[in-house]
Amino acid sequence: MEIAVVGGGLCGPLAGLFLARHGHQVTLYERRPDPRVHGAVGGRSINLALSARGIDALERLGLAEEILSQVLPMRGRTMHATDGTQAFQSYSADGTKAINSVSRGMLNEVLLDHALAEPGITVLFEHQIVGAAEDGTLDISTPAGQISRQHQAVIGTDGAYSAIRDRIVRSAHTAFTQEPLPWGYKELSIPAAADGTWALDPDSLHIWPRRHSMMIALPNLDRSFTATLFWPHTGEHGFAGLGDAATILDRFRAEYPDAMAVMPNLVDDYLDNPVGPLSTVRLWPWTLGRLAVIGDAAHAVVPFYGQGMNCAFEDVVELDRCLGETGDDVLAALQLCSERRKPNADAIADLALDNFVEMRDRAGSPWFRLATRAEHRLERAMPDRFMSLYELVSFTTVPYSEARNRGRRRRKLVGAAVSALDAISEPILRRGSH
Ligand SMILES: Cc1cc2nc3c(=O)[nH]c(=O)nc-3n(C[C@H](O)[C@H](O)[C@H](O)COP(=O)(O)OP(=O)(O)OC[C@H]3O[C@@H](n4cnc5c(N)ncnc54)[C@H](O)[C@@H]3O)c2cc1C
Repeated sequence: MEIAVVGGGLCGPLAGLFLARHGHQVTLYERRPDPRVHGAVGGRSINLALSARGIDALERLGLAEEILSQVLPMRGRTMHATDGTQAFQSYSADGTKAINSVSRGMLNEVLLDHALAEPGITVLFEHQIVGAAEDGTLDISTPAGQISRQHQAVIGTDGAYSAIRDRIVRSAHTAFTQEPLPWGYKELSIPAAADGTWALDPDSLHIWPRRHSMMIALPNLDRSFTATLFWPHTGEHGFAGLGDAATILDRFRAEYPDAMAVMPNLVDDYLDNPVGPLSTVRLWPWTLGRLAVIGDAAHAVVPFYGQGMNCAFEDVVELDRCLGETGDDVLAALQLCSERRKPNADAIADLALDNFVEMRDRAGSPWFRLATRAEHRLERAMPDRFMSLYELVSFTTVPYSEARNRGRRRRKLVGAAVSALDAISEPILRRGSH
């Protein structure tokens, strides 16, 4: 079948590779120029956490080894209190499992390299889809002018502001919401120290939870870190109102003094880098005629579980499975895939919003640390029967909806146990806070 994949970001090239290996002819349209020639265009996060679901997809294509040789494993989170005190919590009970900090630019380039080398895939850069019809016709803006082309199937992997989704949404039977978070994000840099060493522990994801705002930092291979501020757009602790060096430095001195000490470019970074939007997309159905969407186009989530890309990659694994089950009937496979993925996309959207509150408010609290320790103890005692929600989401391919249900039940049990302990034994809690 002759298929258009719209969007050469993270999900598009991966989908193209799976489809081509099923013997389909794929045209991959990307609106940007070739990032391998022109460099990555900024605006999205510089690095991402790659975990089990994303790795599973890469393994199925034989690409995992190449990518994993260029990542930095993070075994846990290091919480930074305002007074500079740091506390490390491992992500898994045995302390060995890690999520991986990966460069978005590198990952995109490797995926595009493989797509370009794959017989059966044509990649067209600087081709922006500006219109789509149910019968698979695309209106495409190219450097040589606008053209129209019809395809037997069109898969929109064109991100949170998808043009293909725009057409699906215009159908009378579509339910669609794009719920913006009243918070945005801005990236800052923490360069390597003057002697070439890491300014922070590179083995972990760093979090500065401040309830009304938050900052995180992930390591890069060049020994720098990329820090991301997650702040409200407005209000006392928001981005609005910080417009000059003095106010920026005052805010950091009060909220993130230890980070500020390793951010020599803070003011320039802050003033130069944009504030990005964060939103949750919910859509149903994901298909209309010969059109379909997967990845962020179908279900963008807020980034607080580090799962948006991992979830998008898992969509493609499910599509591969559905192609097998439908005898390579692409339209039937897209329909089946969307039915199976929708409950899981909804689950990770909810979990990501829950984790926003957890990272921002609870991650630094003694209660949270005690609950995490209790969970890890149970995991070690009953490895076959007990796995925390975080482990289920990040270190397995158990469907997100099942992970959410199992994890929430267990967190509740652990929470009740810790609260009971709290009531009878205040000193234990006090010990937990050191
Ligand atoms: C701050 C932040 C941090 C994140 N951290 C993580 C993380 O740690 N782990 C994780 O798993 N996920 C993370 N994510 C989510 C992740 O970035 C997305 O889920 C992922 O990029 C989705 O891939 P995609 O291919 O669906 O969309 P995208 O990566 O957005 O790709 C869409 C592509 O389509 C192209 N395009 C758009 N419109 C058109 C058009 N009309 N015509 C042609 N081409 C078009 C775009 O140029 C782009 O190349 C994070 C997101 C943010 C914002």
